[in-house]
Amino acid sequence: MIHKLAVIGVGLIGGSLARALRQGGYVEEIVGFGRSLGNLQKAVDMQVIDRAEVSVANTVRDADMIVVAVPVGSMKTIFSELAGTMADDAVVTDVGSVKRSVVEAARSSTLGQQFSAFVPGHPIAGTEHSGVAASMANLFQEHRVILTPERETRPAAVARVHAMWRATGAAVMTMSTDQHDEILAACSHLPHVLAYALVDQLVRRDDHRTTFDLAAGGFRDFTRIASSDPRMWHDICLANRDAILKLLRDYQRNLEAVMHAIDQQDGKWLMEMFDRAKRARDTYIKHES
Ligand code: NAP
Repeated sequence: MIHKLAVIGVGLIGGSLARALRQGGYVEEIVGFGRSLGNLQKAVDMQVIDRAEVSVANTVRDADMIVVAVPVGSMKTIFSELAGTMADDAVVTDVGSVKRSVVEAARSSTLGQQFSAFVPGHPIAGTEHSGVAASMANLFQEHRVILTPERETRPAAVARVHAMWRATGAAVMTMSTDQHDEILAACSHLPHVLAYALVDQLVRRDDHRTTFDLAAGGFRDFTRIASSDPRMWHDICLANRDAILKLLRDYQRNLEAVMHAIDQQDGKWLMEMFDRAKRARDTYIKHES
């Protein structure tokens, strides 16, 4: 049970977490902080938060759980404002899509003095929509949440964050920060970059209106995630640069092999590759039709 939850960044993820915990009766009071008053007012109107504060210090005062849910590039500034104002027994966690850069930001900010109270986290759930208006109480149900505690992280803090996410219906797992960043680069960051690049390539064609007009389900499926928030993906790409670049180079080599097969009319190679990929997708992504 959380007495006072402080949500820094009441958007899709912060708002959904607040709604899930309120719905589950897991929290007594929720206070939110953000930049635009419009989004915060909407959060109050939707009863996602009980009240909005205009400073980080006021938001986290007396909070026993602090969730930082802003884009990863903004986290260091927020972390610097926490130290000195958060309660001694408060636990801080984040929801950022990249973990190494966030951990380094926490260590090198003044939060570093209370680093053992920081539990890095990442819910593996979301949509291409942003802001509190897109939040959903059931967003995390039957989804994974990854925690990447560091050597110094207090086990009691990990247990409290673990219990909070369990209360949303999520399954919680832990892994190392670097393993998280490598795996998420492959299954999330790379596909987002590819989707953005494909849409941007097609929109530069002279006949792009007709091209998009004729685009059917396959194109929509492949590019849905290119409607995600550009600032969020800008931050993720810069924060997880090495892992994403390595995968892009692998992908480039793979595409060159595909180009070579098409150029050489090598139908056998293409059939084998398509078949291998279809079998892998059908095996591992069974729950989607
Ligand atoms: P979002 O809907 O845009 O919400 C972010 C919120 O943070 C907004 O309400 C924004 O409020 C506020 N904010 C932004 N910069 C701020 C700053 N400097 N100071 C204070 N508030 C600030 O984004 P989101 O999708 O919830 O993403 C939040 C975090 O979750 C990111 O770190 C992202 O990597 C991670 N994440 C996202 C997904 C996903 O699918 N979207 C999934 C897992 C994890 P204002 O509009 O008022 O500025």
